Amino acid sequence: MTNEWDKLNKKIIACRACPRLVEWREKVAIEKRRACQEWNYWGKPVPGFGDPAGRLFIVGLAPGAHGSNRTGRMFTGDSSGDTLFGALYRTGFASQAKAYSRDDGLTLKDCFITAIGRCAPPGNKPTREELNACDPFLAQEWSLMPQVRVILALGKMAFDGSARLLRNQGYALPRLKFSHSFLSIARNIA
Ligand code: SF4
Repeated sequence: MTNEWDKLNKKIIACRACPRLVEWREKVAIEKRRACQEWNYWGKPVPGFGDPAGRLFIVGLAPGAHGSNRTGRMFTGDSSGDTLFGALYRTGFASQAKAYSRDDGLTLKDCFITAIGRCAPPGNKPTREELNACDPFLAQEWSLMPQVRVILALGKMAFDGSARLLRNQGYALPRLKFSHSFLSIARNIA
């Protein structure tokens, strides 16, 4: 990763712009789930992860309280990650199907995973204001990856956030309708 990525990731990790989310992510990290008592929870915002030269840009909602908020890496350590990394492994984007921790050896090729929100939200529901506050981080990742050709949005909120990202970047998108199991937005439609 370049200096620009380092700078961006440090900025993300240090962010405390949303008081409700800061309180929640840190409370979860202190209290922990019973099965994870031995873990030193991350408890901070989670930066994007993967191949910065990747053409596939995967966008999720936000870290899981006991998944990414515990491990510090996107989609790592919970069942949603098991599903995602299993699929990425089968399609050649991931070096292994399982993701346990930041140092489990997993690498991604031609693929980058990020989210519209970087902090675990209570009930998996960030507010509109919290997502607005987090939008610049997604935009900065996007600007560092001009080679991206496909966005894969995981869920409606990620889909809406991806469309917001593209519109803010000046893409003239047609009216988009979210649908499960539907591959979404290609970059060259501006
Ligand atoms: S959700 Fe985003 S903007 Fe809000 S505190 Fe976390 S990193 Fe900062």
